[in-house]
Amino acid sequence: MSMNVAIDGPAGAGKSTIAKKVAKEMGFIYVDTGAMYRSLALYFIRQGIDKDDEKRISEAVKDCNVTIDYVNGEQQVILNGENVTGLIRTEEVGNMASASSAFKDVRTKLVSLQQDLAKSKDVIMDGRDIGTCVLPEAQVKVFLTASVDERASRRYKELVEKGEKPDLEKIKKDIEERDYRDSHRENSPLRQAEDAVLVDSSNMTIEEVVNAITKLCKDKM
Ligand code: C5P
Repeated sequence: MSMNVAIDGPAGAGKSTIAKKVAKEMGFIYVDTGAMYRSLALYFIRQGIDKDDEKRISEAVKDCNVTIDYVNGEQQVILNGENVTGLIRTEEVGNMASASSAFKDVRTKLVSLQQDLAKSKDVIMDGRDIGTCVLPEAQVKVFLTASVDERASRRYKELVEKGEKPDLEKIKKDIEERDYRDSHRENSPLRQAEDAVLVDSSNMTIEEVVNAITKLCKDKM
């Protein structure tokens, strides 16, 4: 049976940074499910669909074929034959992903793809509903979080390093709004699975978090 590790948590908690490192350490495949929601979001934006228009979004989902590929160990998302990996990290796409991922047809499509990926391979998958819905039988489940202030300050530093001039208060407000939407939606809301280990990374280094999760994996092997 393949080893499945689920990492859930709010936006900006460091899930992808941590999951990538644990995957490398353990020789597992890293699956970034947020990137899949973002690729569909890009499609909806390109079609000029409003983020609250469930009817058009449900129709548009039928035209989308999302697949995952790996180049030098990095996940690539292919949308209808186009590699969109470099186009999905904008705030606009993030906001559309946050809104459209609340709709059932969007989730149904991606959850089955995610479950197929985990069936035959050792994976570490991050998202919002991995431990609760996608991989309820995962051997290791982690709920990774950090305070809103800490998450906002990490995002702020990231943008400054990229040469941008971000507004810390706006970043904080966006994070709070996204947390609210992700955890209050009807379909697969963000919540800690009963059997998940809570890791609050507010006062931990990346290395400490990676070591803690790697240990949880090794203990299950
Ligand atoms: O993690 P990331 O910020 O890339 O995810 C983008 C959006 O996709 C999130 O705000 C969340 O609403 C949605 N998402 C989800 N379920 C997942 C992964 C992401 O609803 N498993």
